[in-house]
Amino acid sequence: MTDKKHYGFTTTILHNDRLKGIEHGSLHKPIHTSVAFGYADARQLASVFQGKEPGFRYGRQGNPTIAALEDKVNKMEQGVGTICFGTGMGAIGAVFQALLRAGDQVVSSAFLFGNTNSLWQTAMGQGVDVAFVDATDVANVAAAITPRTRIVFVETIANPRTQVADLKRIGALCKERGILYVVDNTMTTPYLFRPKAVGAGLVINALTKSIGGHGNALGGSLTDTGEYDWTVFPNIFENYKKAAPLQWGLAQIRAKGLRDFGASLAPEAAHHIAVGAETLALRMERTSANALALARLLEADARVAAVHYPGLASHPQHAIAGELFRSYGSLLSFELKDGIDCFDFLNRLKLAIPASNLGDTRTLIIPVAHTIFYEMGAERRASMGIAESLIRVSVGIEDPDDLLADFGDALEAC
Ligand SMILES: *Cc1c(COP(=O)(O)O)cnc(C)c1O
Repeated sequence: MTDKKHYGFTTTILHNDRLKGIEHGSLHKPIHTSVAFGYADARQLASVFQGKEPGFRYGRQGNPTIAALEDKVNKMEQGVGTICFGTGMGAIGAVFQALLRAGDQVVSSAFLFGNTNSLWQTAMGQGVDVAFVDATDVANVAAAITPRTRIVFVETIANPRTQVADLKRIGALCKERGILYVVDNTMTTPYLFRPKAVGAGLVINALTKSIGGHGNALGGSLTDTGEYDWTVFPNIFENYKKAAPLQWGLAQIRAKGLRDFGASLAPEAAHHIAVGAETLALRMERTSANALALARLLEADARVAAVHYPGLASHPQHAIAGELFRSYGSLLSFELKDGIDCFDFLNRLKLAIPASNLGDTRTLIIPVAHTIFYEMGAERRASMGIAESLIRVSVGIEDPDDLLADFGDALEAC
């Protein structure tokens, strides 16, 4: 290799472990399963526990396999540090667990992954106020901010209706007010978009989805971009203020989210995710192209009432998505016309698999109101813009002709 300092997105991920040196010239970081770690002597053990020397303490707070994945995700997001969790929800739960206290307020996009919505309901039961707003317009976020607002939380492309948050203007607003801006980047991934570019302080990725990419491992991550000034955040305990302020947030999140809350990633899962991440860019190019072609096919079909995909000119945030994202991603949703039974349609598909999960190599499809958004009830669904007939598609990497024929044939038969 040359001594070029800045490699491209994929080259960086592919060679990150190897260039740091691995025993026997291994190209993959090994799966370290040890829960405990030994030291040269008892003094060193104490010094590692006191944070005076680098080293691993106990598997719950991390290990070498997980640290290697953290470093890769961190490079993808160009952060100052990244922590991995057992699931995406573990990462989001750690934000709530580690950073919020009773009496605080969160301004959250109303267009949210269902379980994040449920987590905010839990927070409200524990004395944290959550204001749900239409985050496609920064004015709604600005109107909801109070002196008690600690966090503004949005998803880049909301699952399942694909609303795109007013990411850049919300970032500017948070910066001006000294509020921590947390962006769930799962739908775009750091290949299509880096939230750091619009001032996000913390970035969440559900590694389970496109980054792992094969539906064979659960994981989540939280990256500190270095954009937020932790000295103005009132909820950092004195313990975590020993290092430079840039480290305060992550120090508290690692201790509270991993050590105390225990939402730890398994080393075997970290390995699966690291292998999947090597092809993230290739898969995002293919799934984005497939999704755009499928969205166009659906939009042109008389049996389809509406298609939601940021890559379509008819999408309300098409321009913003085009300006901010490298391409429009693998998530789309659509509604069939009245009188067509969505179960009948789904059962006629031969390739697209009726299943939950997103960002798989295979195309997955699910009737939203009857499954993942069933628990919240019709009223809350309506407030989130979820039609009762809404069908979500996570577009895979199948050959485009096969995928389009599968949907075309199923519609034809309805
Ligand atoms: C799936 C998902 C999560 C949660 O990830 P898990 O790994 O399933 O816990 C969070 N946010 C978004 C946008 C997701 O799609």
